[in-house]
Amino acid sequence: MKRRKLLMIPGPIEFEPEVLSALGAPTISHTAPDFITSFGNCLKMMKQVWECPDGNSFIMAGSGTLAMDMAGANLIEAGDKALVISTGYFGERYAELLRRYGAEVTILRSDTGNTVELSAIESALKMNDYKLMTFTHVDTSTAVRVDPKPMGELGRKYNVLTVLDGVCSVAGEEMRQQKWGIDIALTASQKAIGVPPGLALLVASPKAMDAWRNRKTPVGNYYCDWTHWLPIMQAYEEGRPSYFGTPAVNLVTALEVSLKMILEEGMEKRVARHALLAKEFRQKLRDLGFRMMPLNESSSASTLSAIYFPEAIEPSEFMGRMAKSDVIIAPGLLPGLKGKYFRVGHMGSVNRSDMVSTLDAIENALVDVKG
Ligand code: PMP
Repeated sequence: MKRRKLLMIPGPIEFEPEVLSALGAPTISHTAPDFITSFGNCLKMMKQVWECPDGNSFIMAGSGTLAMDMAGANLIEAGDKALVISTGYFGERYAELLRRYGAEVTILRSDTGNTVELSAIESALKMNDYKLMTFTHVDTSTAVRVDPKPMGELGRKYNVLTVLDGVCSVAGEEMRQQKWGIDIALTASQKAIGVPPGLALLVASPKAMDAWRNRKTPVGNYYCDWTHWLPIMQAYEEGRPSYFGTPAVNLVTALEVSLKMILEEGMEKRVARHALLAKEFRQKLRDLGFRMMPLNESSSASTLSAIYFPEAIEPSEFMGRMAKSDVIIAPGLLPGLKGKYFRVGHMGSVNRSDMVSTLDAIENALVDVKG
């Protein structure tokens, strides 16, 4: 029998067997009482994982980009000013997305591997009347982590809605949405949340919901409009059947299993596990002669690593050797630097033995290509 390979890319990840068996169970009706309970439990547990008890949770069939789109569609009206803090590929995506809704977008870009200085963000906020500011908690193209706490503080100080793209961070990095004043925190199922691809997840603060209620123009995206979805989510939370678009029934029941496991582990412990494994992994890689893309330890993600190929080796040869190993890793993603680095995801169910297998495969590939 062919050996199963270890999936160490930054999403989708390895999933817990309990989650996969929920996914494979016979599909029930989206209005069945058991399903309504599961959906409601998911919405409530999301608020616990996000630490946003007063927020509104949304679960949609779609990928992380849909969650980004939902925030943009509901909060932006033509002519609104938006500030995008970009630490890589996904910041650029957010800028393009917001422009589609007529936003006047200003982008503040970091140098590769770095974050944008808070003083630069504050100067920008002073200069213009922004409605909204987005930032990528962990940019999956660079493995750079932005500290959300001061971003929330700046949002409050300048009365700007803050949108955290947490697709590569939620349930793997520390994030206290309500306490830190983050208005939207969004993610997708296939990363640290631990459910196969297909769910877009978002929690909105009361301030974000008010901003949507106070719009002067209708939401220019039919599927994403909270006018359709808010009553549905409220019904599920209150245990009533409701329908706008058919939910991804099996994915939602799998999400319930995963969120329970996340809360059983506890967010503090979970964040500490991710941080420790990531730190040890980076150190071992440095010992092997690799250099990390993030320039500082404090802004290095716990959910993935972005690693430059050493000068002495041929990247395509190294990736070729890795492809023959039992560990699947990801190539670079940042335009212009794609061939210069690779990425390893380490989030969700990841444990020390996964990290050891990955390091082993990397070390063997390195020895092979060095000859
Ligand atoms: N933002 C970030 C930080 C991501 O890592 C990703 C996916 N890699 C996305 C947004 C988009 O998510 P999806 O591919 O699920 O649409």
